[in-house]
Amino acid sequence: MELNVIRGIVTGAARGLGFHFAMELARAGANVAAADVNEEGLSQLRAASAALPGKVTPCRLDVTDENSISEFVHRFGEEFNGINLLINNAGVLRDGLLVCPEEGWIKKMPLTQWQQVIDVNLTGPFIMTREVLTDIFKRDTSPAVIVNISSVTRSGNPGQSNYSASKAGLDALTRTWALELAPFGIRVGGIAPGVIDTPILENVSGEARAQLLSSIPLARLGKPWEVWLALKFIIECDYFTGRTIEVDGGSHF
Ligand code: NAD
Repeated sequence: MELNVIRGIVTGAARGLGFHFAMELARAGANVAAADVNEEGLSQLRAASAALPGKVTPCRLDVTDENSISEFVHRFGEEFNGINLLINNAGVLRDGLLVCPEEGWIKKMPLTQWQQVIDVNLTGPFIMTREVLTDIFKRDTSPAVIVNISSVTRSGNPGQSNYSASKAGLDALTRTWALELAPFGIRVGGIAPGVIDTPILENVSGEARAQLLSSIPLARLGKPWEVWLALKFIIECDYFTGRTIEVDGGSHF
């Protein structure tokens, strides 16, 4: 699909990768609905994208809120006269060990800490994709592309039971949806970034940051535009579906 025919939704677009994706799409002439819970970041995106050839419409949306998602998708289905791209990018980290012996007691990961991450990173894409597909089928507007932003830690990472499980689940959805939707001209791809320089890393400093860097053969953090190259490929290559591309500097997780 060519970038300038896109009428798409990017979740988690107020900062980091999502902000970058929305900007690049608009730079290529696409029409983008930019969804996030961070209204200040959305205002910055509105200002930054104002002079680009495409149009970015920032909109507050919590990807765990089923009713709001339905309204949001209906609104942009109408405004765009059919949505043809969804990027499930919104994601959160709530790291911690499953159980950890401390002095005199055993610390456990609370169920809420597990659930928050599963809700945003896995259930969010499930609801978003279900609603977008419903709109596509109703309006008969395929071809379309769905992209899920997973992570290299999907194969497991200490301290990330919740996050790794959510991203492994998202990968399974990429494969499942690709198989279900191929007959309808709808492709589904995934990207598994390694460690990319975005605000999600703002609390990772000192020794933890050095340790992260030492696990990357290319010995540096990735840049958002390097992940954009993979996204651009997935959108543009009509023979790509059902796979997840790793953009990780060769990391060995
Ligand atoms: P980020 O924290 O900079 O941005 C994430 C955005 O998602 C934020 O703007 C946040 O407000 C939004 N968000 C959170 N909860 C939301 C909700 N309920 N509804 C709507 N929006 C919500 O993170 P990033 O680094 O840009 O990450 C983007 C995606 O890439 C995430 O899915 C993340 O897991 C994944 N990823 C990032 C890295 C990395 O190193 N940066 C590595 C692997 C995977």
